[in-house]
Amino acid sequence: MKKVYLDYAATAPTDPQVLDAMQPYFFEKFGNASSLHAYGQEAKKAIEDSRQVMAEFIGASADEIVFTSGGTESDNYALLGSAYALEKKGNHIITTAIEHHAISEPAKFLEKRGFKVTYLKVDKDGLVSPRDLKEAITDKTILVSVMHANNEIGTIQPVAELGRIAREKGICFHTDAVQTVGHIPVNVDELNVDLLSLSAHKFYGPKGVGALYVRKGVRLETFMRGGDQEKGRRASTHNTTGIVGLAKAVQLSRKSMDEEMRFQSALRDRLIREIPAKIPEVRLNGHPVLRLPNNVNFSIKYIEGESILLNLDLAGIACSTGSACTSSSLEPSHVLLAIGLDHGTAHGSLRITLGRWTKESDIDYLLEKLPPIVQKLRAMSPLYEKD
Ligand code: PLP
Repeated sequence: MKKVYLDYAATAPTDPQVLDAMQPYFFEKFGNASSLHAYGQEAKKAIEDSRQVMAEFIGASADEIVFTSGGTESDNYALLGSAYALEKKGNHIITTAIEHHAISEPAKFLEKRGFKVTYLKVDKDGLVSPRDLKEAITDKTILVSVMHANNEIGTIQPVAELGRIAREKGICFHTDAVQTVGHIPVNVDELNVDLLSLSAHKFYGPKGVGALYVRKGVRLETFMRGGDQEKGRRASTHNTTGIVGLAKAVQLSRKSMDEEMRFQSALRDRLIREIPAKIPEVRLNGHPVLRLPNNVNFSIKYIEGESILLNLDLAGIACSTGSACTSSSLEPSHVLLAIGLDHGTAHGSLRITLGRWTKESDIDYLLEKLPPIVQKLRAMSPLYEKD
């Protein structure tokens, strides 16, 4: 059976060139970067070279990069580290209603411990309003965290403008750039950010490694305590293989980003045109223009996203839905509710995300398989009125 992977926002395969770059660091060059002997120094050099590559890619300097275990750790570090470093200054944090759980869960945790959190609303396309941010800031605000692009609906936020507003008030600004680094240009100065999270597995690097950019002078309470790795900012033996893989993924993205953006956005736009032409009563979720080149998200009315997903899976196609009924909840995605969808429409969402190995023929295949699946499921749906 043909197999088509269209869930790149969840994770991407590791590029074989990344794997080749990592390989020597498992056996021949396995040293602990904290050791003083030649093995250790060899690993240390690989890490520092990788730090330089990572920093240059986002317009930072090497000593502003802290390697972490991925997006979740970077987000937790940014939020908890800022909150505890700045609690004497104030106890108010501003974020949005559409952040990834790696931000919203630590935010909730901080609320239980006496911090106040404002969750900015978004408009129907998923955009945060700079005016809302201005109005939410108080003299107790210590941190603003707004994601660069949303992982479900692909909307890209006006981070440069939001960052400028925070900076004018002397407030630290964090962005979760897990879905953008490696996919669209990201520069910490142009975006006016002080903290930025990224994760290797979203751009063809290995899973379990990422980084937090920390602008010089920004105060963060250490989150992982133990050894003095990362200049005391993140204890634990360095994940040399992962860090080398992250840097190789950066080098590959730097080379191919323009071409991939062009190709993927053409395929994305084809899906955005052809899905509504082939399937009645669908709604595009996310901003029509300010969106990731690889993201398509539709609500397909009267049916459940999960049923579509399972039927696509039987046809060999892997996508995702915002209606996943996790074991603990039947709630549809908080992102889809935040852009104003009712529960029914939110439950019928389908996210299609493209990547380095997506071919035109994969899109042909999806466009061939999806309409009859929707037709079949709608025919069984008590909600669907046939004329
Ligand atoms: N933030 C966003 C926007 C994401 O999409 C993800 C992953 O899905 C994360 C954070 C978490 O990243 P990681 O899987 O590296 O922990």
